[in-house]
Amino acid sequence: MSYVKLFFINIFGYYEWWMLWISLFTMAIIIIILIFILSRSEEYKKFNSISLYNVIWKWKYKKGNIISLWCHCPECGSELICDDEYCRSTITLTNKTTFLICKNCGYAEKGRIVGGDRNYLLKIVKFEIQKRIKNGTYKNEAKK
Ligand SMILES: [Zn+2]
Repeated sequence: MSYVKLFFINIFGYYEWWMLWISLFTMAIIIIILIFILSRSEEYKKFNSISLYNVIWKWKYKKGNIISLWCHCPECGSELICDDEYCRSTITLTNKTTFLICKNCGYAEKGRIVGGDRNYLLKIVKFEIQKRIKNGTYKNEAKK
């Protein structure tokens, strides 16, 4: 108790019994508000799949970052193979094409992205996801 008294005396120059209760009450309110804000900001974590470039993208969150982002077949749901071999042999950006292939559907092409390799593709998809989280449009996306 003497430490509490010293604390208030240090700040306000004096101590009254109600000071402790008011500060405890204020702290309780701050904690409640923090819990409320945190639970609201976690809401986006339900958003973990999106349809982009004709395929389904799925991912997880770790410390607020998007991890294990990968594309899935819109028909059978299995993971797609990324063929970006073509990107290495060409110099012009518009010729760089990444093909998304489903092994389960008889190596059928499910998507095609012009402009870069798989790293480029993952980057733009991640960007699209983050954009939707930022502006709140992910809520409409999750309902689909
Ligand atoms: Zn498939």
